[in-house]
Amino acid sequence: MAVPKRKMSRSNTRSRRSQWKTTAPTLITCPNRGCGEQTLPHTVCPSCGTYKGRQVQAAV
Ligand SMILES: [Zn+2]
Repeated sequence: MAVPKRKMSRSNTRSRRSQWKTTAPTLITCPNRGCGEQTLPHTVCPSCGTYKGRQVQAAV
């Protein structure tokens, strides 16, 4: 039977992929007045195309 050659480090044991959990993404409400969409922080709002109160993308 195959036997591991080295002892698995504590770090590797603790970060084993099967133990990874998904987490819900952080959502913020779009600060643009009249939009109020839920978007990811530090990201251009996909619905109104503004970032930091500035229009950076053509509104859809
Ligand atoms: Zn928006």
